[in-house]
Amino acid sequence: MAENKSKNAPAPEKQAPSNVVSLQAHKCTAEGCKHKPDRAGFCSEHYTWFKEGLITMEGYRAKDFDKKYHAYMNRKNRAA
Ligand SMILES: [Zn+2]
Repeated sequence: MAENKSKNAPAPEKQAPSNVVSLQAHKCTAEGCKHKPDRAGFCSEHYTWFKEGLITMEGYRAKDFDKKYHAYMNRKNRAA
């Protein structure tokens, strides 16, 4: 009488979450970036962003991204 139960049981394959970020990604972790990853999953520019605290480890923008970005660009321009 257990035959009906197996019908509703989800297949094991469907249990795997589809939004897991692979560590061996073929592109930069930063959102919308299509460059090849250089360091820690980021391209060289976004790795700098990550170091500066502009983006998180997951590639999302920091809450005060605009402020930090301006400060970063100011520093960059002064160094150039
Ligand atoms: Zn990038």
